[in-house]
Amino acid sequence: MQDTIWDTAIIGSGPAGLTAGIYTTRGALSTVIIGGSLWGGQLMLTTVVDNFPGFPEGIMGPDLMEKMKAQAIRFGAKFISDNVTSVDFSSVPFKLMTNDQQLMARSVIIATGAETKWLGVKGEKELIGRGISSCAPCDAPFFKEKYVVVVGGGDSAMEEALVLTKYASKVTIIHRKPEFKASKVMQEKVFANKKIDVIWDSEVSEILGDQKLESIKIKNNKTSETKTIKVDGLFVAIGHNPTSQLFKGLIDLDEKGYIKQGIGYRVQGIGYQTATNIEGVFVSGDIHDHIYKQAITAAGYGCMAGMDVINYIADLK
Ligand code: NDP
Repeated sequence: MQDTIWDTAIIGSGPAGLTAGIYTTRGALSTVIIGGSLWGGQLMLTTVVDNFPGFPEGIMGPDLMEKMKAQAIRFGAKFISDNVTSVDFSSVPFKLMTNDQQLMARSVIIATGAETKWLGVKGEKELIGRGISSCAPCDAPFFKEKYVVVVGGGDSAMEEALVLTKYASKVTIIHRKPEFKASKVMQEKVFANKKIDVIWDSEVSEILGDQKLESIKIKNNKTSETKTIKVDGLFVAIGHNPTSQLFKGLIDLDEKGYIKQGIGYRVQGIGYQTATNIEGVFVSGDIHDHIYKQAITAAGYGCMAGMDVINYIADLK
């Protein structure tokens, strides 16, 4: 496989990468998906996905990803469960290094998605995994009959809080504003749940604990009053940052680190909407989309990138 020059290499295996793979393989392109050691992206960390069309009863996030992966493999994609550690886009074929091997490809689709945004306050880094988490579906069972707080005001925070109520004795959501950003449907579920209360207009300013989380300092943004409360668990759900460190200095990023899309070149009059500033390198999903960030939009962008690459390879030949 080391000597193979793939028509396309897809980095990432969330809905964007796997959908791109379904399209490129069906377009008869030899396709390798470098899915990461933890494959599947953010949906592997969720519970029921209720808004992906085609599943009227909802589907568990990991089940949805298994189905997408199986579909890409069915059409011939080679799936590698390893991380890309560096890339060389300076000449074609492009070179992608993983922990185990070097891969070569005529085109690349970057679909590395996004990763947890942490609070960045004193004490946080040391206690991640010792009472601090960003994944309720993964870690909620550790907090049976315990008191936990969730930070954030979006759909993720609502979902984390709801999952936690299945185990914890009480859940408090701490939000920096006087109202949530989350969808009405999710808010209604939260407000209807007797185990959940909310501390509004407040931020966690410091996290305390020796070896494990013990308490947090909360600052009221309106009054500047600070109080310390004892907690067993803290779940951070304040959004995500694009996973673009690997590409810094190699490809055009915006000021927040998202890869710029749609700025590409044209070949024979065709505009490649998913192109980056490097000819032959395309992008799809949460790594460039800072607006919609949905499973279905990521899949849609994956489809677009797949179709662009099919046209691009045809142009090359
Ligand atoms: P969002 O960006 O939607 O929300 C982030 C929340 O965290 C906001 O309320 C924001 O506050 C708050 N926040 C951001 N930074 C800080 C900080 N430093 N300190 C304190 N609070 C902070 O992210 P989500 O992850 O919730 O959602 C991302 C996307 O995924 C959305 O489009 C959402 O709809 C979708 N999603 C859908 C789900 C579903 O449908 N079941 C489940 C989960 C996510 P502020 O309000 O002040 O901006």
